[in-house]
Amino acid sequence: QVEKNFRAGEIIMRQGEPGEIAYFIQQGQVQVLVRLADGSEVEVARRSAGSLIGEMAIVDGGPRSASIIALQDCCLLEISRSEFSKALTHANPIVGLVTRLILMRYRNILQRSASLGELDPASVALEREEHAHAEQSKVLDAVRLSNEFRVALADSQLFLEYQPFVELSSGTVIGFEALLRWNHPVHGRMPPDQFIPLIEETGQIIAATRWVFREACGALLRMQQAAGNNDLFMSINFSAQDFDEPEFVTSLCNVAEQEGIEPRNIHLEITERLLLRQASHVSETLKLCRDKGMEVSIDDFGTGYSSLSYLHRYPISTLKIDKSFISNMSSDDGALGLVRSIMSISDNLGLSIIAEGVENDQQVSMLRSLRCHVAQGFYFSRPLAESDAISLLNG
Ligand code: C2E
Ligand code: CA
Ligand code: CA
Ligand code: CA
Repeated sequence: QVEKNFRAGEIIMRQGEPGEIAYFIQQGQVQVLVRLADGSEVEVARRSAGSLIGEMAIVDGGPRSASIIALQDCCLLEISRSEFSKALTHANPIVGLVTRLILMRYRNILQRSASLGELDPASVALEREEHAHAEQSKVLDAVRLSNEFRVALADSQLFLEYQPFVELSSGTVIGFEALLRWNHPVHGRMPPDQFIPLIEETGQIIAATRWVFREACGALLRMQQAAGNNDLFMSINFSAQDFDEPEFVTSLCNVAEQEGIEPRNIHLEITERLLLRQASHVSETLKLCRDKGMEVSIDDFGTGYSSLSYLHRYPISTLKIDKSFISNMSSDDGALGLVRSIMSISDNLGLSIIAEGVENDQQVSMLRSLRCHVAQGFYFSRPLAESDAISLLNG
């Protein structure tokens, strides 16, 4: 751990600046200042030896919510954001969730009270309380949903649908993507966008992915047998958290083997965000997947903070062009240009391309003329129940 010294009068942190470090005050005293909407600054607290300052930024990486100035010479101990988030990922998922949500609430209150700076104190207090109440019920909803998801996993409320990949030249189905569905006992069918971000936050995604993977392998075997085609592949979505599991690749391979599926028929769909984490274990894990024969696709390609450098640094086999570009391609030259350049980059790097979200035959003919060979989208088929996927294969 690193010690830092500040002289009396020195600024330790400035409101609004990005923060990566919290400090534990070992010696000295500081003043906490908040800037109001009218630009004036007010002292909201003093902190001395034994207290923590700047702790909010290391939980959520947001900008500093206050300025802190040394009132005396200070000796501070640094706590870095990376250190803290490591601890948080290993904590009970609910601890992590509640920590972040409480913090969100706290930030909102601070923002509010700063912008309400001119109002009388009584109404500010009332606003704060109402706001805190709303935030608290959000926390409760999230905790409730996360508990319900635990039941869902155990109680077979989850199921998968399969959306085909179609070879444009022949119209043949060459594989499927497994998409998670939750049949919630009260809310009915819940779309994945409504619960996956939450279960990623709580860490439950890891158990969910394990479930999806085994289920999808089982379905793939039945599809391969029904179609008499053992080249048929299954594409599965992974979240960044899945890659934190030790033995990730080994356990995937074991499950595939138990289910009678060859690794070469498994495609992992990951997002650009995962590659941006730049953790060395991500690249090692992906290499291991490739060594075992699994393929790696970049999902929603073009929507992230694309950096072309990772395309050859990581063992990637396929880019899935995001549906927003496909749907704008015919009306927006920018989108068309982007699709064109993705095609030529992939050509040069020897990557395959899949066009996502294809909805009409105009898009199909554009993709054909751009020499895109594989597509997916409502035009060909919506995500299907296993039995419907098998009927589709049997033509
Ligand atoms: P995604 O992986 O990009 O999946 C494609 C989404 O677009 C699916 O939504 C699919 O139903 C929808 N879609 C497919 N074709 C078309 C089309 O032609 N037009 C339009 N407008 N939409 C189309 P869905 O099933 O609601 O899934 C949403 C997202 O949830 C997925 O986006 C994926 O990020 C996530 N997800 C789904 N299943 C899993 C899973 O098992 N694990 C993880 N980690 N994420 C999953
Ligand atoms: Ca996907
Ligand atoms: Ca996608
Ligand atoms: Ca998506």
